[in-house]
Amino acid sequence: MSTSDLSFQNTSVAFAHKSNGELNKARWLFRSFNYPALLTYGPAMAKAAVFLGLKFTIKKTIFQQFCGGENIKECDNAIQNLAKSGIGTILDYSVEGEESEVTFDATCEEVLKTIQRAKGNTDIPFTVFKTTGICSSAVLEEASHVIGQNAIVDIQLVANALSVENQSGWKNGFARFMKLCQSAAESKVRIFVDAEESWLQAAIDLMATHAMEMLNKEQAWVYNTLQMYRHDRLAYLERQVAEGKCHYGYKLVRGAYMEKERARAKAMGYQDPIQPNKTATDADYNRAVSFCMENHHRVAICIATHNEQSSLLGTELLNKYQLPKADWNVSFSQLLGMSDHISFNLSNSGYKVSKYVPYGPVLSVIPYLTRRAQENSGMAGQMGRELALIEAEIKRRKS
Ligand SMILES: Cc1cc2nc3c(=O)[nH]c(=O)nc-3n(C[C@H](O)[C@H](O)[C@H](O)COP(=O)(O)OP(=O)(O)OC[C@H]3O[C@@H](n4cnc5c(N)ncnc54)[C@H](O)[C@@H]3O)c2cc1C
Repeated sequence: MSTSDLSFQNTSVAFAHKSNGELNKARWLFRSFNYPALLTYGPAMAKAAVFLGLKFTIKKTIFQQFCGGENIKECDNAIQNLAKSGIGTILDYSVEGEESEVTFDATCEEVLKTIQRAKGNTDIPFTVFKTTGICSSAVLEEASHVIGQNAIVDIQLVANALSVENQSGWKNGFARFMKLCQSAAESKVRIFVDAEESWLQAAIDLMATHAMEMLNKEQAWVYNTLQMYRHDRLAYLERQVAEGKCHYGYKLVRGAYMEKERARAKAMGYQDPIQPNKTATDADYNRAVSFCMENHHRVAICIATHNEQSSLLGTELLNKYQLPKADWNVSFSQLLGMSDHISFNLSNSGYKVSKYVPYGPVLSVIPYLTRRAQENSGMAGQMGRELALIEAEIKRRKS
């Protein structure tokens, strides 16, 4: 099948994995995101519902749409359902909680379990973690500041430059970071390092670069994430690849923290790190995809987006450079419960596709579910598109 046969409007492929009942439920859910009161009070109501013993209701509705289960075992169904359509799973431990060394150790152990679950399993092509899940934000923030001020590129030098109270946190965080990346590389499992707020990112970049240079000797096992809504990321990408120290892996995203970034920059009076508008973000995103494809001999990418144009561009460039579709070195990724029209149609056309499958106890993933509900609210946003596609498929099945 050539790229010209690919259509994201094919709802019969997009929703073949959903029964009529499941589609109706998804329609009800996406419609409910349009009630502002639900979005405002939803998170508190959800927490209260869990305490009142109504966990089952949440689990069978919004949780079921966007999460795989409460633990790795419970994700088996989601993994198998996606695998039936050739789509890979990325087990994403999405618990957001208190920051303590005990919690960081526990999260690290959980991510190690996802790596073990992925080992030798073609249905789970990637694993993922957030650095703030294994290292304190305060430590990452101070480290990022120190790195930015002094252009430090050495982990130990950062440790020396930190305040005394953050030195052990940095050492422990880095040790966990490397433990995860090493375990992934030894298990021949690719691992994504998620991108976070810009004021934490220099430290995350330094750790990810260290891991890539150490472990990506033969191929990219460790992937850093680049947020193309930042106006400095394209130059960063070009500079890093020009160094040519290893194989590079990048997950390309637009970025999830725009409002927060802009508000902080304004409040603290520094230059906004975000592009001036969406057009500029889109342009840099697509340039980054093109640049990585041009350098495919040493750059592996995951085009992680719900944007149809950028996904299509990926398929066109695979064609242009005559690269194999069925190779995880260039792949596509979306979140569970969103943009199935992209995931399932790409996979149906032979491209490598994966989906983040978040999991964790219902109460602990409420912040994640809240973000999904918020970004799916408003008829003009993602929800308009998701709902329109679901309704089109319901209508098609009835006709
Ligand atoms: C598999 C996967 C993994 C992800 N991992 C991460 C991650 O590690 N870190 C992270 O931060 N995010 C991550 N995201 C979220 C991602 O960054 C985007 O927020 C989300 O995917 C929406 O962008 P889009 O490319 O899908 O689509 P679009 O709907 O085309 O783009 C929306 C995005 O464009 C940008 N944008 C919107 N308006 C403006 C404006 N006025 N000016 C400048 N830019 C604007 C914002 O980034 C916004 O999120 C991930 C997403 C996916 C699908």
